[in-house]
Amino acid sequence: MVKSTKFAIMLGGNLGDSEKIFVRALEKLASGGCRELKMSRIHRSAAVDCVPGTPDFSDAAATGEWDGSPFALLRLCQEIEREAGRPADHSSRESRTLDLDIILFGDAVIDTPELKVPHPRAQIRRFVLEPLSELLPAARFPDSGRKIEECLGILPPEV
Ligand code: AMP
Repeated sequence: MVKSTKFAIMLGGNLGDSEKIFVRALEKLASGGCRELKMSRIHRSAAVDCVPGTPDFSDAAATGEWDGSPFALLRLCQEIEREAGRPADHSSRESRTLDLDIILFGDAVIDTPELKVPHPRAQIRRFVLEPLSELLPAARFPDSGRKIEECLGILPPEV
């Protein structure tokens, strides 16, 4: 029997019609094999760690079920990013049509050059934690043991 894993990803972007781009990305995740997909509301936030003048970002969380490996899910996400017009090489938080990051993959803790799960900056980013808490209010990060709500509670207000 194939093992199914519940995952959480973040969708982010600040170029083009983010709502349309995110809905299209979810359709592609579904046709790529993701099941039970749910998406949070789209949250808007000022760009963090970006050059001055960078347009605001839209961010949403999505959860679903995946029957394959986390690396296969990463490859699907990267293919969807490329189809949305994102260049393969880019710097973090640079303006982009679509960024897909795997935040949680069941209880897995993965630390390879290609894939780190839980996503390393997820627990200190309000733009990740707030959308994620809509879908997974009781979930814990398996590396720190912290609940999403706890992470939000200890964030400095400016983050
Ligand atoms: P970013 O610019 O944040 O989208 O980073 C993309 C790079 O991060 C890719 O080369 C991925 O292999 C790597 N990466 C490491 N961990 C993750 C993750 N949890 N989700 C998505 N990309 C990841």
